[in-house]
Amino acid sequence: MFNEKTCQRCGTCLEQCPFLQLPIEDAKNEISIMIETRNTRSILRNCAGCGYCSIVCPTVSNPHELIKEIRLRYTREKGVRSLSLITEEIPYNLMSISLENNREEKLLELNKYENPPKSKAMYYVGCAIPYYFQDLAKTKLLEDLPLLGGMKYCCGGYVHSRFGENEARIKGLELYEKFKKLGVEKLITFCPECDNMIKGVYPSIIEEFDVEGQNFIDYFIEKYHKGELKIKNKINQRITFQDPCPWRNLDKKIYNGPREFLEIIGAEVVEMKHNRENSLCCGAPLAMSNRNLATKIAKERISEAESVNTDVIAFMCTGCLTTLSRYATERNIKSYYATELAQMAIGESPEFKILENAKMLQKQVIKTISENPNILTERFIIKNGKVSRL
Ligand code: SF4
Ligand code: SF4
Repeated sequence: MFNEKTCQRCGTCLEQCPFLQLPIEDAKNEISIMIETRNTRSILRNCAGCGYCSIVCPTVSNPHELIKEIRLRYTREKGVRSLSLITEEIPYNLMSISLENNREEKLLELNKYENPPKSKAMYYVGCAIPYYFQDLAKTKLLEDLPLLGGMKYCCGGYVHSRFGENEARIKGLELYEKFKKLGVEKLITFCPECDNMIKGVYPSIIEEFDVEGQNFIDYFIEKYHKGELKIKNKINQRITFQDPCPWRNLDKKIYNGPREFLEIIGAEVVEMKHNRENSLCCGAPLAMSNRNLATKIAKERISEAESVNTDVIAFMCTGCLTTLSRYATERNIKSYYATELAQMAIGESPEFKILENAKMLQKQVIKTISENPNILTERFIIKNGKVSRL
């Protein structure tokens, strides 16, 4: 909740926002208008929803919650495009579009993710891995537990961020029933949004939600200490880590895992100026709506990495990796997803196909939109758990 009583209207939040960077007087003015009118189209247009404003607020008033409240009103009234939804109830979304490439093979794999054997613990691989980054799951590292994922088991992060807590509760209860049917007590999470929903949001809004969430890197660390994960090749490089934005809502201990794991595999961990809960967004959320701003933000982030002379940036969000890696390459910095680093450390040769797959998805989206231009105009809402066209 935004705390209007403690807010001093100082403007620090909007002045220090990496995307808005408003002059201080404009920032003071804008925050006052937002508080009084609960309205701000100009801020919403360039807000990536990264949550950094709440980190810099000196009175801990949580301005990000104010922005979310205003955004929620807009999405409830005006709806969202199908590309922002992850559900089989609509004709086109990123997941269904991605199936146009290698359809048969992907559907076979997807069938495994959506119909795992019963198990108390599972790898919860989210939506992106089953639909467009399937190579990431092809590793011995993930052979000890069943894999669960796909649209049927989407964590519902999109429901929470776009349609609010009540809709998220409905989504979470449905999901919880599905987990219980599978006998799941613990999920090893991959996507930072899944981390946020399983470890943060659902336990706070659904009383009976007792499924434990553990990030995969913490699980790998546990396996390493038990002797179940053997390091064969040390990665003797300077590595910095891009902390994902959704982690800001979680217990700060989550930031230790990637650093500890990088040290276990032999890396020298170097920190960018903005790190852990102070980390900066990669710019991806604005890639479609304001490409110039998204590019500027991405380049600034890479400049921070370059200034600490890192050899590698490690990622645990495929969105951050696909956004930042092209600019990292320009500065001779390598980009790896955390499982790729783990694979190299245990002696496997990863496929390194994240970028290729992301480019393929982008082409498919452009083609699908050109054939179905209504994708850009149609709007959908979610009410009482049901998706409908506006
Ligand atoms: S929310 Fe915080 S940073 Fe923003 S104006 Fe209020 S006190 Fe200042
Ligand atoms: S959520 Fe991020 S992008 Fe949006 S106003 Fe806050 S700091 Fe800026």
